[in-house]
Amino acid sequence: MRPVTRNSWPLKPNGDRKTFAVSNYKGFFKDLVINFGFYCSYCERPDSLDIEHVIPQSSPAGQHLVVDWNNLLLGCPSCNRDHKSNINNTRNGYVWPDEVDSFSHYEYFSSGDLKVKSTLDNADKTKAQATIDLCGLAPPPKSNANQSKDFLWQQRMKVWVVAEKLKADYIAGNTTVGNIVTFSEMSGFWSIWITVFSGHDDVINAISDAYNGTKSDYCTPP
Ligand SMILES: [Zn+2]
Repeated sequence: MRPVTRNSWPLKPNGDRKTFAVSNYKGFFKDLVINFGFYCSYCERPDSLDIEHVIPQSSPAGQHLVVDWNNLLLGCPSCNRDHKSNINNTRNGYVWPDEVDSFSHYEYFSSGDLKVKSTLDNADKTKAQATIDLCGLAPPPKSNANQSKDFLWQQRMKVWVVAEKLKADYIAGNTTVGNIVTFSEMSGFWSIWITVFSGHDDVINAISDAYNGTKSDYCTPP
């Protein structure tokens, strides 16, 4: 999960904070894309995106945070609506990409799988797994339970194959960093690219720079 830096509250031309009525919280959408890039904050796909209320707007605490910039991220309909929905009433007990080094909590695999990193302490393992479950990030393959997440699994496998191919081309001198960055921006799934290009810091840095808001301090490959 790509760790991100949240910019300060967006301002109007006169320097005041941008504010929206609760019914018009989508007014923050453009600012969120500028800050975080056009990717789901959880599964990392470049899908159609919702404004995602970290603390759900239907929860007792979240109903006061519907138009609070610090409670907003971007999320795909699957992570935001199908899974996360209104389950978490607080931020406690989960891994949030605008809060911690969310990349170091997970391992990505060529099979399309995503797992909690085995080297975490037990408290962090619990939080990392809770986040997988909250957003439905690692369903078993070919499950009939949730077709959209099966699609996610397939997407991760395909992106891994493309990244490996480009890495081989790069090592052979047959492609450029710029070309790799272009493919990565189009495909999304930042964490897969950073994992596959482990050891190639020039590529990792260029990819991280291309995804708006990436907290590059945390971009150490596993
Ligand atoms: Zn998602």
